[in-house]
Amino acid sequence: MQQATIAQPRAGFWSRLALWKKILIGMALGMLAGAILGPDAQMLKPIGTLFINAIKMLIVPLVFCSLVVGVTSMQDTRKLGRIGLKSLVLYMGTTAVAISIGLAMGTVFMPGEGINMVAAEAAASAKEAPTLVQTLLDMVPKNPVSALAAGNILQIIVFALGLGIALNLSGEKAKPAVELFESLAEGMYKLTELVMKLAPYGVFGLMAWVSGKYGMEILLPLIKVIAVVYLGCIIHVVVFYSGLISTLGRLNPVRYLKGLVNPAAVAFTTTSSSGTLPATIKAAREEMGVSKGISSFVLPLGATINMDGTALYQGVCALFISQAFGIDLTFSDYLLIIMTSTLASIGTAGVPGAGLIMLSLVLTTVGLPMEGLAIIAGIDRILDMARTTVNVCGDMMVTVLVGKSENELDETVYNRSSTAAEAELA
Ligand code: ASP
Repeated sequence: MQQATIAQPRAGFWSRLALWKKILIGMALGMLAGAILGPDAQMLKPIGTLFINAIKMLIVPLVFCSLVVGVTSMQDTRKLGRIGLKSLVLYMGTTAVAISIGLAMGTVFMPGEGINMVAAEAAASAKEAPTLVQTLLDMVPKNPVSALAAGNILQIIVFALGLGIALNLSGEKAKPAVELFESLAEGMYKLTELVMKLAPYGVFGLMAWVSGKYGMEILLPLIKVIAVVYLGCIIHVVVFYSGLISTLGRLNPVRYLKGLVNPAAVAFTTTSSSGTLPATIKAAREEMGVSKGISSFVLPLGATINMDGTALYQGVCALFISQAFGIDLTFSDYLLIIMTSTLASIGTAGVPGAGLIMLSLVLTTVGLPMEGLAIIAGIDRILDMARTTVNVCGDMMVTVLVGKSENELDETVYNRSSTAAEAELA
């Protein structure tokens, strides 16, 4: 009896630790393992892949069910339109600011100075970027089942919105279907919770692999471009997002930053904002207190059309390439970059490396050489980690603001200190 009481606190230490702390520990240990093992850290990657697969498994059913429920819980179609419009304006506006920050950072810090592009050897993996019209046309699925099977989030959103509105209009007759979606969505939330328990281990495996693969030797010549992108990303989240949260939302920005830790860590290590969706939705509800209706509509939309980190990265990279090739950009080139990049972010999928493909679109628009992509491709994963994190933080910021403006943000949950939340969980 005595022994059991003594042994208990030790055994419970890890399980009592809040998830975000476990994730941070996983990240730090992963970096350490990567530094020690070097390329051999590759063997730890399967742990990360397991986590990524598990979280990917959730995306389609989670987004679909929760979006249908999000719409059916908003009987008022005008409200739906209003929320859609607000989200769109905020998403586009913040993206334009992000790329401006990227361009400003690129101008001030000149990351491309002294880089010899010719000597650099790395294969660009850029594919052809789709046109804007094509992107818009592709939003409507010809076959919703194949959209679900292919995991095309934008098409799934369009179909789920249509189905939700139709169920609302059908009234009493559609009630069983609505209830079915409600209970499926609940099940998916539970499954998300279970999968998130794997996050610390998955993050450990992914971090070990990344830091083992990119030793310092590869990073050093490009350290400036990496530093500029990271600094820009930090400014965008800590200054701009926090600023909007406190000025527009009249909310405590520290709570916003704290509540972000879980999804940000998942985004940083998986480099996919669509893949992070389950974690983002969970945090929006449980940490920020945003209603189910708002979070299940605004977040999936953001994961597909809002790419602030990607836009910021494109701004820095465009300047980096122009400086490295000694090509001067005019003021109208800057404007063109802002416009192209903001619109391109709608068509950028929230998957690893998508931003690099869209960068080719931005480069072509202002006539910058495609060869520049090659050098960026070599370090793209490292840049992707930062930009995906910003993409996810941006989705969350807009969701909190829209929730607040619609009176669908529970401020007692939002303002609850994490110690209180932990005590409750313990
Ligand atoms: N990986 C990013 C995301 O999922 C997209 C990108 O490559 O910029 O948000």
